[in-house]
Amino acid sequence: MSFDEIPEDQTEGYQCECGGSITKCGDKWFCDSCSFEHPIMKMKIDKEDIIKAHDHSSNHYDEIMTSEICGCFYCQKTYKPDIIEWIDDGTCVCPRCGIDSVIGSGSGFPITQDFLGKMCDHWFKD
Ligand SMILES: [Zn+2]
Ligand SMILES: [Zn+2]
Repeated sequence: MSFDEIPEDQTEGYQCECGGSITKCGDKWFCDSCSFEHPIMKMKIDKEDIIKAHDHSSNHYDEIMTSEICGCFYCQKTYKPDIIEWIDDGTCVCPRCGIDSVIGSGSGFPITQDFLGKMCDHWFKD
């Protein structure tokens, strides 16, 4: 039996071939039912993406509203776009921390903890 690698941003709701769901344990993902270790395809994130993604955190009304999921790269929380608060010119703020550092999956960037964490390191900690 062989498994394709699961893209890192699609692990949520993923089902093993036995019907079980997968759970993270350390750096690895295991099936809850059969304990098979599922290989995860790490999204390669380079510095250029981190820079480019920042352009998607303002004047992005359409992009946010068509996103499946949005995330804040300050507090690193993810949520659906319908709870987002909008300020002036089509820029939104995070409903949790109030910072205008929200990007949506409609931007084409992965809204994962890994990606948001790297965004945070670059834009808020350097
Ligand atoms: Zn399984
Ligand atoms: Zn936030």
